Amino acid sequence: MKIHEYQAKEILKKYAVPVQDGIAIKSMNEFDSAIQQLQARGINQFVVKSQIHAGGRGKGKIYNPANRDELILEGGVKFTTDVQKAKDYASKMLGNLLVTHQTGAEGKIVQTLFITEGLDYKKELYLGILLDRAASKNVIMASTEGGVEIEKVAEETPEKIIKEWVDPAIGFQGFQARKLAFGLGLEGNAFKNFVNFILKLYKAYEDTDASLLEINPLVITNDDRILALDAKMNFDDNALFRHKDIADYRDLNEEAPLEIEASKYNLNYIKLDGNVGCMVNGAGLAMATMDIIKLAGGEPANFLDVGGGANKETVANGFKIILSDPNVKAILINIFGGIVRCDRVAQGVIDAVKEIEVNVPVVVRLDGTNAIEAKEMLENSGLNFSVASTLKEAAEKVTNVLAKV
Ligand code: ADP
Ligand code: MG
Repeated sequence: MKIHEYQAKEILKKYAVPVQDGIAIKSMNEFDSAIQQLQARGINQFVVKSQIHAGGRGKGKIYNPANRDELILEGGVKFTTDVQKAKDYASKMLGNLLVTHQTGAEGKIVQTLFITEGLDYKKELYLGILLDRAASKNVIMASTEGGVEIEKVAEETPEKIIKEWVDPAIGFQGFQARKLAFGLGLEGNAFKNFVNFILKLYKAYEDTDASLLEINPLVITNDDRILALDAKMNFDDNALFRHKDIADYRDLNEEAPLEIEASKYNLNYIKLDGNVGCMVNGAGLAMATMDIIKLAGGEPANFLDVGGGANKETVANGFKIILSDPNVKAILINIFGGIVRCDRVAQGVIDAVKEIEVNVPVVVRLDGTNAIEAKEMLENSGLNFSVASTLKEAAEKVTNVLAKV
């Protein structure tokens, strides 16, 4: 699960990680009061920051959602010392479309703003913590090349990224924090403050079951404080049950509507751009099915894993989700009857098709326990299924019916 920058900073604050002060608002009615509160804390430089679940906001562009050719503002993050200007920026961002290199051309509507303290600083650094799956350890990455896309640094000047792996048995050690500080060329108070920062940051990452914690940029202020200007946090969904406060941060506005619908039914659904809807049990089989559809010349419209124990309800819900995508022109059902018997799935498919209106061709391939009975049931159902025995045959059938529509 992803959260917004302002939410990540709320979490970091609880771990005493220094972040810049700020107030999140959802409507312009809250703007004046937010500024007044910040001014009361002695703040007189402001940064208005669009909150969306994507990076690259600083270099992004704000467009009119009703007319995507109309550029409203350059930059989704704006610094100013002038309250009136801050208000103008805020009103141009809120409710409009922010397009960044991470959002894709469709962009995202800005529904929340973070009005923060604008800081003067002398250096931008990069800091990231994530799981290195190959090493089975968390890795901390730091770089003097902050503020820019770290992917670029990794590609062009990988030697500028220093890494420390954390041994899960003993945890992150003080000497490792100091090694990173040395590697970044820090001295004096900045050195001490960095060591303090990274130790606390790591604790926040570990305690919250985060899967990614990225601070870009991390800044050294003119008085050598170390502070997070930006914060990105992702969490392991499987651990959210033990972090109710974090689960509450979920922002459905940021998620694809069909994916939200699917998650209600415990279906793993990811929308894609093609026109062949796929319903498969098991993630591995779903990946293989998408591959083979492409091999046969088709384009999958989605990834959908209905789970190992697919039954009538999951099949019906899967149909509903797939059919809600207007791009879907044909459906391929590929179920392996291991935990469930194929005849049960076939009955589920037949019942679901009778219940909900399925107006696109459906190709079904069932294999495993009672596959032969299942095939007979589908063929004798009087419904318009195309039945296939092998995955290859199924993929070819579905791309052939598509060629005809
Ligand atoms: P993104 O990574 O989505 O572009 P950031 O939060 O990193 O968003 O902001 C982009 C840039 O805006 C930063 O690299 C920094 O130069 C500037 N910036 C962000 N917050 C502040 C702040 N509080 N004070 C001064 N400059 C800021
Ligand atoms: Mg950033």
